[in-house]
Amino acid sequence: MARSPSESLSEFIALLATDDFRGAACAGQSPYLFDGAIEGEPVKSRRARHQRALKICSHCPIKQRCRDRHEQIPRHYRHGVWGGIVYSR
Ligand code: SF4
Repeated sequence: MARSPSESLSEFIALLATDDFRGAACAGQSPYLFDGAIEGEPVKSRRARHQRALKICSHCPIKQRCRDRHEQIPRHYRHGVWGGIVYSR
């Protein structure tokens, strides 16, 4: 059964659909790579997932815009990978 996206991930997915995120390197990738800690997920798996996300961010042409938008969203949504940075809760 598919997992429901976290609030943070839902916010991320919604932003990806906006004009601000046009050209994002993560468009078309699994958004779950960018989610924060997932309940019950082994730390090793989370780190591997985030490494994949960071690799995608590393060649993203809108990385700075992504970081700027990340600062504008409510603090409790800010975990996960945004703009090439891993944010914890
Ligand atoms: S910097 Fe990373 S998370 Fe942000 S839009 Fe680009 S690929 Fe997506």
